[in-house]
Amino acid sequence: MEQRQRAYNFNAGPAALPLEVLERAQAEFVDFRNNGMSIMEMSHRGPVYEGVHNEAKDLLKELLGVPDGYDVLFLQGGASTQFAMIPMNLLTPGKIGAYVNTGSWAVKAIKEAELVGETQVIASTEADQFTRVPAVADIVVPEHAAYVHVTSNETIEGTQFQAFPNTGDVPLIADMSSDIFSRPLDVSQFGMIYAGAQKNLGPSGVTVVIAKEELLTNSPKTIPTMLRYSIHQKNNSLYNTPPSFSVYIVNLVLQWIKERGGLQAMQAANEAKAKLIYDAIDGSSGFYKGVAAVDSRSRMNVTFRLASEELEKLFAKEAEQAGFIGLKGHRSVGGLRASIYNAVPHENCAALSQFMNDFQQKNS
Ligand SMILES: *Cc1c(COP(=O)(O)O)cnc(C)c1O
Repeated sequence: MEQRQRAYNFNAGPAALPLEVLERAQAEFVDFRNNGMSIMEMSHRGPVYEGVHNEAKDLLKELLGVPDGYDVLFLQGGASTQFAMIPMNLLTPGKIGAYVNTGSWAVKAIKEAELVGETQVIASTEADQFTRVPAVADIVVPEHAAYVHVTSNETIEGTQFQAFPNTGDVPLIADMSSDIFSRPLDVSQFGMIYAGAQKNLGPSGVTVVIAKEELLTNSPKTIPTMLRYSIHQKNNSLYNTPPSFSVYIVNLVLQWIKERGGLQAMQAANEAKAKLIYDAIDGSSGFYKGVAAVDSRSRMNVTFRLASEELEKLFAKEAEQAGFIGLKGHRSVGGLRASIYNAVPHENCAALSQFMNDFQQKNS
């Protein structure tokens, strides 16, 4: 039978998964470890699923170096539900939610928090069209802050923090949906980290929350049960039916990361991949224009523009014909974007860089 080629997948999310993970899932799809059924068909209260669930949690802690005193939750509702759960659980009366506004996702987080309580934008790069992240020194923690919220990687604009502010006793909370597990991290700098899995960690359907236990145990009894961190923490994320298949795939992705050398190796690979594409931009004598300021560039989402929207359309069309998928920028900002998460192979980025050079030759 003819082997169908895998696309050069640059989708922003859901996004590329490691081929090895897909093949492993395929091999154990119908009969999981000789249990006579798929993992999807099993009770989430049984020992087989619970083994997978706890393995994923332990491996996540191990790879990220999660210190004692932190817990890991597997929730549903995407990162978008965290935008609301964070203030509902942590924004106590008399305090303010302090937000750093870096782009489209930060804006959404702020809007949700405003529905719940008092918020303050303590730093913003909106005046620069979100083409950069603020300097860490410009993020000043106000008095009475319940927490400081940052978006570590703005998936749509293509910017990324390279260092994080020291917020002292005030918990730093980070939306890491699009760069979790892409580089080593000092978890102890953060009160809470959260991420929808579908960019760097697995399929859609599960959201990972890593947090200091003290932030998880004091949820107000006045909010709905399913929206309380305390309920999920007390029940090891098995209060209700978890997204079992998604957690299982996350476990396989974590094993894949471990086999490849962990977060140091991910970082080295991601930097090399990003360099291929940024070099194509920087070496184009202005044919391609990077959207983000150089020191704020994301290693995960490379955003760039061409001289006209017409030329951008032509680029996207010819790229698609050549097998490059997902290069159109988000509909809210236009332009072009290559999302190059952990699972996107180096060869695919090399092929894109070559395509960019060829396209420039033909069209300049
Ligand atoms: C994709 C994304 C989200 C939204 O995630 P959902 O799981 O779709 O709710 C939030 N924040 C960032 C940074 C993202 O990239």
